[in-house]
Order: sequence, then structure tokens, then C-alpha cells
Amino acid sequence: MKLTNRSKVVSNKEMTLAEKIYLPAIFKGMGITLKHAVRNIVKGPPTYSYPEVQKPRTTIWRGQHVLKRDEEGRERCTACGLCAVACPAEAITMTAAERTKEEKHLYREEKYASVYEINMLRCIFCGMCEEACPKSAIYLTDRLVDVETNRGSFIYGKDKLVEKINERIDITTRQSEKQKNAVK
Ligand code: SF4
Ligand code: SF4
Repeated sequence: MKLTNRSKVVSNKEMTLAEKIYLPAIFKGMGITLKHAVRNIVKGPPTYSYPEVQKPRTTIWRGQHVLKRDEEGRERCTACGLCAVACPAEAITMTAAERTKEEKHLYREEKYASVYEINMLRCIFCGMCEEACPKSAIYLTDRLVDVETNRGSFIYGKDKLVEKINERIDITTRQSEKQKNAVK
């Protein structure tokens, strides 16, 4: 069954003289290159020299995740695994641990994630982890993932994901009223 009209029928017809010497096609290609070169000189390049220059983003941009702390600075994540189950790219892995009495000031719930990792090369920034989290612990932010030169560096652990106590990350601009009310 034909699904679209985009397919082209390939023909084995003899090439014309112009096609055989390739020159018309070469000049046509050079013309297109020249047209873009002139436009870039006149109007400036349409590209951004990332990462030195970043394209402006909206506040609802879905970028690098943050694992939130509560108002007392304790990690919200309880290592329930719902975000990992919801993730269509299977980018999230974690190891759960039990909180001790001495750790009550560090972790909000009795169970916490001793290891929490997101593979940023797998992530498609869909936001399903954020939707699935019952503890309002994970959010996507308007930050871009850093440029790295090796694949291993794209696996972000808690050192990069958990927000710093003194450098909280405001995600309220990305939240709906329903979500804001759910954060307790
Ligand atoms: S944003 Fe989507 S793909 Fe990325 S970790 Fe969350 S659920 Fe997975
Ligand atoms: S981030 Fe949320 S959904 Fe994921 S393990 Fe932690 S509490 Fe569960």
C-alpha cells in the first residue's frame, strides 16, 4: 500500500551530454553555495557559535534535570523508581538505601537514592520523569547540558543533579498551578 507521494521512481535512462560532463550540476551547486555565502556576509550567519554563544530559550524549555531539596534542605527523592519506569529512553538508574537516624537532616523520607544517574545521551527531555514523580523531587530546568568530549561524562550523578543547598534552582516558572500546590 502506498503511504505517501514522496517516493520517486528510479529510471535507468541514458544520461544526456550535460549530465555526463557534470559541469552544469557543479555550477548549479556552486551558485547555491555562493548565494548562501553572500547572504551570510550581508545578514550575518544564521547559526550560533555554541557553546560560546547560546540561542535564547523560553522559561518552559526542558533542559538539564534537577533533583530538588525541601525547605529544610533535605533531598526529596525517595528512590521509588517511578521516574525510571516512566522514562521511555531508559535513561534513569538508581540505587535505593535506608536512611539512618543520623541522616534525618539529609533525606526527607526513610528511603533515599544513594546513587541516582541520568544518561544525558539517552535522554530525550520529554519530561515524563517529572510527571511521574510523586515527591516533586525531579524537574527539568531551562539549563543546557554541558558540552563534553567523552561519552562517560554525559552520565550525570547526584553531584550534578541534586541542587546545592545555597544555590537553589527556581523551577516555579515551569510549574503549573496544580504542581505548585502539590509541593509541600
Ligand atoms: S526527560 Fe524523559 S527521557 Fe529524559 S530522563 Fe526524563 S523521562 Fe527519561
Ligand atoms: S525522582 Fe521522584 S519518581 Fe524518581 S525515584 Fe525519586 S521520588 Fe521516585
